[in-house]
Amino acid sequence: MADTIFINGQVLTVNKHDTITEAVAVEGNKIVAVGRNEEVKQLISENTKVIDLKGKSLLPGFIDSHLHITMYGTNKLAVSCKDPSIGSLDDLIIALKDKAANTPKGQWVRAWGFNNTKIAEGRYPTRYELDQVSTEHPVLVIRACGHISVANSMALEIEGIENDTPDPEGGEIIRDENGVPTGVLVEQAHMNIFETAQFSQEELTKAVEAASRDFVEAGITSIHDAGGYGPDNLRVLQQAVKSGGVKTRIYAMICSLNQSEEFIRKAIDSGITTGLGDEKFRIGPAKVFIDGSSSGPTVATRQPYTSDEENYGILYYTQEELNQILGEAHEKGFQITAHAQGDRAIEMLLNCIEKALEKNPRQDHRHRIEHSGITMPDLVTRIKKLGVVPIPNPPFFYEYGDGYIKNYGERVNHMYPVKDFIESGIIAAGASDNPVAHYNPLLGIHVAVNRKSQTEQVVGIGQKVDILEAIRLYTWNGAYASFEEKFKGSIEIGKLADLVVLDCPITEVDVEKIKDIKVEMTIIDGEIVYESEAVHI
Ligand SMILES: [Zn+2]
Repeated sequence: MADTIFINGQVLTVNKHDTITEAVAVEGNKIVAVGRNEEVKQLISENTKVIDLKGKSLLPGFIDSHLHITMYGTNKLAVSCKDPSIGSLDDLIIALKDKAANTPKGQWVRAWGFNNTKIAEGRYPTRYELDQVSTEHPVLVIRACGHISVANSMALEIEGIENDTPDPEGGEIIRDENGVPTGVLVEQAHMNIFETAQFSQEELTKAVEAASRDFVEAGITSIHDAGGYGPDNLRVLQQAVKSGGVKTRIYAMICSLNQSEEFIRKAIDSGITTGLGDEKFRIGPAKVFIDGSSSGPTVATRQPYTSDEENYGILYYTQEELNQILGEAHEKGFQITAHAQGDRAIEMLLNCIEKALEKNPRQDHRHRIEHSGITMPDLVTRIKKLGVVPIPNPPFFYEYGDGYIKNYGERVNHMYPVKDFIESGIIAAGASDNPVAHYNPLLGIHVAVNRKSQTEQVVGIGQKVDILEAIRLYTWNGAYASFEEKFKGSIEIGKLADLVVLDCPITEVDVEKIKDIKVEMTIIDGEIVYESEAVHI
């Protein structure tokens, strides 16, 4: 007999045959029946809760295979430049002043999601403008890409940045014509100050719990966390999952936003490897950053940027360094991966994986490529040959697509090439990279199907996929990318009851409106963890 039964639905099972059926039964935390109404109804007893879906879609819970829960959560504690009320630098300064007024002196005042190309003035603020916010609080404005920030004078002072401070390796302290730092810090220089401005454990816990609530409301039942503040991040997440404060299941990458190789070193030395943990919290791959951001733009390309003939982007490592770090992680049993956006970075990662496998062959390694931005056809071929799992980000096109066309030209036809992956038989898993893009999986599915930017520009039309293929990116394929497809990622008997109910039958909606679909209910482990206010079914 079942605890809960869903009937009269459009049940998208995402099984091998993409079967669409009517009803599902859940007992405890498992799915115990899937099929036609008549069959499943036989499991109704007097204690069974029967939910009539009235034709709406029931899907496996969404899996976001790459986001940064701690970053998103801590962003919620700061000023959001994505807020529509912030259209100019003046608006930003007013919002920051407000935040400073409620922050004890000496503590950091932060803003995130800043985009110089979208603000009225079309530029970064200067340290002097941020000094107007406060001279008694360090102030840090972080760009949407997470690779550049602007600091006020007090923040620069805390970081020890003076006129004669040399640029850190892999980063730049932007200076004016007199050699005085303007406050803008790029790549490693940004990463360093970002680490200085770190949050307390208590702030972090509050942050991840708030983030998890938002994810659950969007139907996300599992996330692959792509890293934050090193070991602290891991500890906080682990405890928050254990306490029940975080409901989403977590596959936690061994990755720190700054100097990830040190964190990987510690993990290797401690003896842990990928897969340790349980269905709620598990250790994921070892991950480093090879290049920069697609919107910065700072990705490492083989050909110069369309917008700048001199620019080939930035790299954090040489091929030898990369082979050394990830090669050892592979040897010690880790799934390995790296942030690789540009074709030059992707090529380096594939070289590294190839070499590691030559030296220490391993079946079913599922080594990954985070983002897999500019993935030209030769790279797609190598991904298939090596059995690598790319983790593309369809929602990037929505927010950053116009910039991609300007910076990369024709190459947008090969960016996050979901169709090429599917046609080549590659299993790719979808991800938001939140807070870089919105976490809503239905936005990701929408963009994978439509390939259009927010301003309606088509970005690589040849890579459009159909709705069922797009749903698979955010469900079964995500489970595969974490070695968990045997017990989640589809609606099949014996699998975990992680489910999401939408407010309509998704396959019957105009594809231009997929992103507007709402989640009505989210179920994790058989328990209803979210129910929309609008509809109590
Ligand atoms: Zn990321």
